[in-house]
Amino acid sequence: MRSVIRRIRRLQRALPPIPPPRLVTEDDRRWAATTAALLRQMDPTHARVVREDLKRADGRGHQLNGLTIAFIACAWHHLRENQPLALPPEVAAIYLSGKYSATVYDCEDCGYDLPVLWPDPNAIPPTPLRVYFPQCPLCDGKVGWHAFYIKHRRYKSAGALLPHKPSQDAVECGATNSRNSVTMGEPTGVGS
Ligand SMILES: [Zn+2]
Repeated sequence: MRSVIRRIRRLQRALPPIPPPRLVTEDDRRWAATTAALLRQMDPTHARVVREDLKRADGRGHQLNGLTIAFIACAWHHLRENQPLALPPEVAAIYLSGKYSATVYDCEDCGYDLPVLWPDPNAIPPTPLRVYFPQCPLCDGKVGWHAFYIKHRRYKSAGALLPHKPSQDAVECGATNSRNSVTMGEPTGVGS
């Protein structure tokens, strides 16, 4: 018996320790539920682009496409700022084309961020600012530079003033979310 115990102890020393299971937090679950909900309501082709792009994001320098970045930003802003959780096809197509600039154009009523393209004075001929959506495709509100703040005099992060009902997921979410953005669970019945 003693020799068996000695063998077990030798084995325990030789084998690497089993890593503890990764903790799944409430924030992880909210993030997975929010991203899955967003994928479900997207155009199936766009949802597939995002899912495949995220699968390739294995930490070896893969550049996410503009739509995937917008997808992550949309889920993030929904959780952080109670913005609508939506990427309608006409908006997603612009992010996918890459023809947009980092801006702060949003809807004055629901706060939804919308893409624009900055003017290019070096183009021949120079191109003007392009506002793709003068009206919000979700609620028909007016879209402009910091429009939500200008109308309500409050930041979106201060709380919802939305005609849309906030989702149950719309709560403060921790910094672990960006990590989980590439490890979220597969949604069911989307684009496949
Ligand atoms: Zn709106």
